[in-house]
Amino acid sequence: MNTRGPRWRPAYIGVGSNLGSPRKQVERAAAALGAIDATVLVKTSPLYRSAPLDGSDQPDYINAVSALLTQLDAATLLWRLQEIERAQGRSHDDIKWGPRIIDLDLLVYSGVSIDEKDLKVPHPGISQRNFVLLPLCDIAPHLRIPGLGSVCRLAAAVDTTKPRIEKLT
Ligand code: AMP
Repeated sequence: MNTRGPRWRPAYIGVGSNLGSPRKQVERAAAALGAIDATVLVKTSPLYRSAPLDGSDQPDYINAVSALLTQLDAATLLWRLQEIERAQGRSHDDIKWGPRIIDLDLLVYSGVSIDEKDLKVPHPGISQRNFVLLPLCDIAPHLRIPGLGSVCRLAAAVDTTKPRIEKLT
């Protein structure tokens, strides 16, 4: 009999907010990640402050990345992320690129690539987003992103003026 249960897989979650005390929202979401069933929160990166991606007139974002180990499959994990977003008051009528109280993205899941209608992994746009690459390199310096290579090599090459970004202490 196999008593070991499902495998534990690494997953990386992008966390961002620019409404409702963004730093508090990000910290609350990171804590909620640690309460997901069959999942352990391994580490959360330092916080970053970044300007809105499209340059529009909205508050700056607070961003972080959390590392998990999970026994959930990727689709179930995404569902759990959406439950946390809803619990923090996120409405899915939000306009694309518009301000948001919390945004949780499944960035990387266990070295696999997924291309389904509602779930794309690695998360599209990773390679141009400094607010994803910098915190991800902080906590997972040896990570290789499927199809893109070393996260820290990508982070070293990314433009830190678009959007403007700073690391918070
Ligand atoms: P957003 O408004 O940026 O949070 O986007 C949410 C939508 O993106 C949902 O409909 C998800 O199904 C879809 N989506 C596709 N791939 C991902 C992913 N890797 N992480 C989070 N949302 C995803």
